Amino acid sequence: MKKIISVLLFIVFMCPVMGFAAENDFYVSRIDEKLFARIKGKSYKDNCTLPLDDLRYVHVLHKDIDGKTHSGEIICNVHIAHDVLDIFMKLYEAGYPIEKIRLVDEYDADDETSMRDNNSSCFNFRFISHTTKISKHGLGLAVDINTLYNPYIKEVGGKKILEPATAEAYTDRTKSFSYKIEPGDLCYKLFTEHGFEWGGEWKSVKDYQHFEVSDKVAAALYPDNK
Ligand SMILES: [Zn+2]
Repeated sequence: MKKIISVLLFIVFMCPVMGFAAENDFYVSRIDEKLFARIKGKSYKDNCTLPLDDLRYVHVLHKDIDGKTHSGEIICNVHIAHDVLDIFMKLYEAGYPIEKIRLVDEYDADDETSMRDNNSSCFNFRFISHTTKISKHGLGLAVDINTLYNPYIKEVGGKKILEPATAEAYTDRTKSFSYKIEPGDLCYKLFTEHGFEWGGEWKSVKDYQHFEVSDKVAAALYPDNK
């Protein structure tokens, strides 16, 4: 009996350490009342027109740059929930470093604060500026990874606009640094294999942290979102 207990204890404690994904650490669930209380008025804003039933909670494990395991929480569209689960499971098993996967609600749904903290996230309801069209993050159809080290960069009149504003050191993509997403790396590969497009390949702006479903898929899912 003692031996069986020791074996069980070994499995429970060592599997996450050794990098085997325990099934109950990776799961998708509906947004229950308790969870809704965490996001209401934050990422699920009072003007949110996306049905709550279109969203799913995804629980994962991830490893930081030192190989330490953390649990992660992310909310995304039901349409991509199992893709996101599969991607994070494979990233975890390969030891691909992701520093934080927390609900953006822990940052009062403030993207800039979340990005400065290098948080990875997905759903945050918003309309595209000056329109009534919901953005891809607003639909839960875009995922941002290791956001501080993979900023959004836009040039306006020769001036660089950065999100987060603290990411200047990570704008030179010829340099190598921790948590950097590279074209062809495992993170890029998994997302693109699952049909996502990478903002690092856009022409007018660069959004190195950003993976989203195509306009075509988003339009097919939400034909009235114009
Ligand atoms: Zn994004």
